[in-house]
Amino acid sequence: MDSRRDFLKTSALAAAAVITNVNESKASSLKVSSTGTKPIVISTWKFGMQANEAAWEVLNKNGKALDAVEAGVKVPEGNMSERSVGLGGRPDRDGHVTLDACIMDEFSNIGSVACLEHIKHPISVARAVMEKTPHVMLVGDGALQFALSQGFQKVTEVVEESQREWKEWLKTSNYKPIVNIENHDTIGMIALDANGNLSGACTTSGMAYKMHGRVGDSPIIGAGLYVDNEVGAATATGHGEEVIRIAGSHLVVELMRQGRTPEAACREAVERVVKLMKIRNKNLKDIQVGFIALNKSGVYGAYCVQSGFNYAVHDSSGNRLLDSDSYMK
Ligand code: ASP
Repeated sequence: MDSRRDFLKTSALAAAAVITNVNESKASSLKVSSTGTKPIVISTWKFGMQANEAAWEVLNKNGKALDAVEAGVKVPEGNMSERSVGLGGRPDRDGHVTLDACIMDEFSNIGSVACLEHIKHPISVARAVMEKTPHVMLVGDGALQFALSQGFQKVTEVVEESQREWKEWLKTSNYKPIVNIENHDTIGMIALDANGNLSGACTTSGMAYKMHGRVGDSPIIGAGLYVDNEVGAATATGHGEEVIRIAGSHLVVELMRQGRTPEAACREAVERVVKLMKIRNKNLKDIQVGFIALNKSGVYGAYCVQSGFNYAVHDSSGNRLLDSDSYMK
């Protein structure tokens, strides 16, 4: 009975997704239309292309979405010339590179680390929090101590170029994150595996020159990432404070549950961000927020505040970088 009900639910969802996608592409000049396939992985920004390749290695061999997203986001984490993810990321205003990451699987197991220093792969520490502790989130020194106890290596070398830029920045200390350039950015990745299960991962060094101790949306389940294996998954990038304010990724997933396509759900979440910016009398031009989403049928979509956000999609037809539609044109 249950499995029949699940089947009916999934089929209805798939049919609705296809129909709405057709209507949407007639109604507006959508840059993307997706009709649903599995396995599939999608991830934020251009560095998502390389990350997707690593995730696809796993998915293509019938691997689990959870293993795929961890392997995928480890690529930019491990790239020391990447200035917005991992230890190559720009430091906070006190010169510390502090990392935020979280992971979520198809059973709603979750793990997260925030303000973690000296560890190359925070996503794997987040996974260890998920799998080896009774908790869901560890921060700061506690997260570091846990990582070391699990055999992760402490990295003390700093990235010279990043430190040099920070010292330059200190001369004015003007904190004004610029939209769409790499003084911030996050890799958020969500995948649907061949067995039809969803997982997601999200990792960042956060906003460059943030206050020491600042935590963004990326390690917060419901804000930077959310997965519901019955419905879909979503992840976010951009100004974390605005994403947290609307519990962004959870909102996107709930909108998909109510029948929105992934793109429509992302758009509605972005419109919520815009509305709150207006209510709070803030200048929309100062922020970027982008969401990507994937539903249980493998239909994907994205939407953002400012143009310039792109995301990478890998399925059996290959890997490609797509432009997200945006609220501001
Ligand atoms: N969301 C990240 C943060 O607020 C940064 C970004 O994706 O641009 O830390």
